Amino acid sequence: MIIEPKIRGFICTTAHPVGCATNVQRQIDHVVVKGPIPTGPRRVLVLGCSTGYGLASRIVTTFGSNADTVGVSFEREPGEAKTASAGWYNNRAFEQRAKAAGRVAVTIEGDAFSDAVKAEAIEAIRANLGQVDLIVYSVASPVRTDPKDGVTYRSAIKPYGAAVTSKTLNTGTGEVSEISVEPATEEEAAATVKVMGGEDWELWIAALAEAGVLADGFQTLNYTYLGSKLTWPIYHKGTLGKAKADLDRAAAAIRAKHGEHAAHVVALKAVVTQASSAIPVVPLYGTLLIKVEDEMGLGEGPIQQIDRLFRDKLAGDLALDEESRIRVDDWELSDTMQAELAKRWAALTTESLADLADLPKYREEFLKLFGFGLGGVDYAADVDPREV
Ligand code: NAD
Repeated sequence: MIIEPKIRGFICTTAHPVGCATNVQRQIDHVVVKGPIPTGPRRVLVLGCSTGYGLASRIVTTFGSNADTVGVSFEREPGEAKTASAGWYNNRAFEQRAKAAGRVAVTIEGDAFSDAVKAEAIEAIRANLGQVDLIVYSVASPVRTDPKDGVTYRSAIKPYGAAVTSKTLNTGTGEVSEISVEPATEEEAAATVKVMGGEDWELWIAALAEAGVLADGFQTLNYTYLGSKLTWPIYHKGTLGKAKADLDRAAAAIRAKHGEHAAHVVALKAVVTQASSAIPVVPLYGTLLIKVEDEMGLGEGPIQQIDRLFRDKLAGDLALDEESRIRVDDWELSDTMQAELAKRWAALTTESLADLADLPKYREEFLKLFGFGLGGVDYAADVDPREV
């Protein structure tokens, strides 16, 4: 079949296998060209390994520090006339390339929140890695079933306390308008913490510890977004921010059990991923950020951020903020970049968008997540969606 993008709201329901493989290869090339990361971990578990920051973490550790990896993700298989999800193609492309480089790469497709997948991952670690030195937690999901009582929780990405009115962008039409978002109820806020907070991270570390598969001196990282004052009302001070604050609590609890540097939250910059496109206001901020960082020569996507995390921030003495977090959002949150973003944000209208922001590049980045718009891929070719 000829595979084309089919966009529904903020997702694309098709993915291109050759395009996804090309996307994975580009990220590998980025790391290989920059050279080895000798201080990096050698045995790694990546939770949420198929797209965005998790995929970048698996690629940087495998191709930067020769790590063997077990990955967990929740992706859709292909059918005869139906493409797989992008993450499924990314996983296959990654495994082929990691194995060709002599590395172990085992992927488990299933619900990371469940006890069954935790047990499966422990078996895969025992069989393939023995133990793990690093666990990256990069799961982003709108829903979680608590394995203890079987209750399913749904996150609600909303302000907390009071309604918020903000500029927003329809990335389909390019229209800038105002939206008002009502505040979350206490129940919605608590459910968001259940889904995106630190509880499951702690359950993973407890299960791995009990199984004896954590190496001495292991480390675990979990990714957060603190972000700009421009997105605080909807993000940092909203329900998602509450969930992310719970990661700081969980990190401190893991450190109390396993040692001073056993767990750190890592604050990363805003990038275009499937998870971030679903958050109100964030795509508008993203179109501005892409333009401003490119003009300053500081543009970064997930692979550049995660490469900088392992190559610069985790090598040598750790620089931590007051919450013991590692900061790779330093360029985005610099006074210089934020002042320019705030100035442009105030002047943003549908008419000024093309001048102040870069919606075409945002759209390109979004389509690339699904394997579309990559140079060197023949999109007119007949492709079997099951063939990778
Ligand atoms: P993403 O949508 O690209 O990736 C999410 C991953 O989670 C995928 O691998 C998916 O398969 C996996 N997943 C979802 N539900 C699962 C389940 N039930 N079981 C197993 N795997 C599951 O998201 P992302 O943007 O890379 O986000 C990863 C982390 O990085 C999140 O904690 C996010 O808050 C954080 N972060 C993102 C940004 C950003 O701008 N995108 C910025 C800073 C921090």
